Amino acid sequence: MSARNILVINCGSSSIKFALVNEAEEQFPLSGLAERLGSPEAVLHWQQGEHKDSLVIAGADHRLALSHLLPIVQRVADGQLHGIGHRVVHGGEHFSGACRLDDVSLLAIRQVAPLAPLHNPANLLGIEAAMKLFPSLVQVAVFDTAFHQSLPEHAYRYAVPEALYRDHGVRRYGFHGTSHRYVSQKAAEMSELPSDGSSWLVAHLGNGCSTCAIENGHSRDTSMGLTPLEGLVMGTRSGDVDPNLHSHLARALGWSLERVDAMLNKESGLLGLSGLSNDMRALEQAREQGHAGATLAIEVFCYRLAKSLASMSCALQRLDGLIFTGGIGENSALIRSKTLDHLGLLGLKLDAQANARCVRGIAGAIHAHGHPRVLVVPTNEERQIALDTLALLD
Ligand code: ADP
Repeated sequence: MSARNILVINCGSSSIKFALVNEAEEQFPLSGLAERLGSPEAVLHWQQGEHKDSLVIAGADHRLALSHLLPIVQRVADGQLHGIGHRVVHGGEHFSGACRLDDVSLLAIRQVAPLAPLHNPANLLGIEAAMKLFPSLVQVAVFDTAFHQSLPEHAYRYAVPEALYRDHGVRRYGFHGTSHRYVSQKAAEMSELPSDGSSWLVAHLGNGCSTCAIENGHSRDTSMGLTPLEGLVMGTRSGDVDPNLHSHLARALGWSLERVDAMLNKESGLLGLSGLSNDMRALEQAREQGHAGATLAIEVFCYRLAKSLASMSCALQRLDGLIFTGGIGENSALIRSKTLDHLGLLGLKLDAQANARCVRGIAGAIHAHGHPRVLVVPTNEERQIALDTLALLD
């Protein structure tokens, strides 16, 4: 049988990110983005090898964008498309793994939507459009939350009245599960350890950031909670704050819930602390030029990350290694080094040269000789979604 092709789709409310994944090729034969959907500026961008192209699709919705994409995909795949994998943000307690999309699973995804009101409805738009356009293809949903369904109850419950959990699903779910799973399996391969017999701490540091404790291939704790706001300092998200902050701002400043929500999700994190940018590259440059806000944002980011990793270690019996991934984790020697400066009690120490070398997609070990393993592992959520889709095809 020749190598199979899977189209991986990640739908936002006005965008579709896509990648064509061939099971035998490391590079994606095709990838791209449809953006500003539903507006006169809607446009489809794609890249095939070195070749980049775009098409104006003014006014196109998700379905029209996918119908423009289909002939491009079929041409690149030589007419051999075997399935579609959809990223879905929230699977609630229904999904502890990927599932084939049919009327029953679609209903379950719809029922979970109140837990992710911004994300699941957008994901559903893409799924429904793709199912209408490709009715004979196997389509699979892969959930950000599913990997964390193995958390023990003492890790996923909040200390609030039980009825809120029982009747309204108020608990910690965790996100970035596809990435945490992918990099922990890669780390086990790189270290010649069985993934079902090794223990890892993971720091996924992109625009969104989370930590995870993984034991024998199962997530045991993670820093995000009911929503992706809990935990670490992120690009524009605050991470943990005093839970009384909402009521304090309402009473002291007369702020509405919407205002507080927008502030915590869109104006906080690295952007809020620095007053400059949510982009770590820009902050590192500004810090070098002595910018006080950028310097503080980096200090808080690293200290809070170290604190989270130390608390995640409570979930593990032993530690085979710490993994850095995501745009910041894969590229910033500074952030890795400053974070580990706070983790001396865990015995972690870096090799400065190895740390400087592992950037721009280079994976490798960066710990000092004789100290616990620290790895840089580029994540690849699209490939993991394709692998999960292929597993359900078999
Ligand atoms: P997303 O979560 O949207 O997928 P990424 O994983 O691409 O985001 O991560 C984006 C973050 O990675 C940004 O803060 C960006 O500045 C940071 N980043 C990318 N390259 C570097 C670099 N060379 N040094 C520091 N940070 C970097």
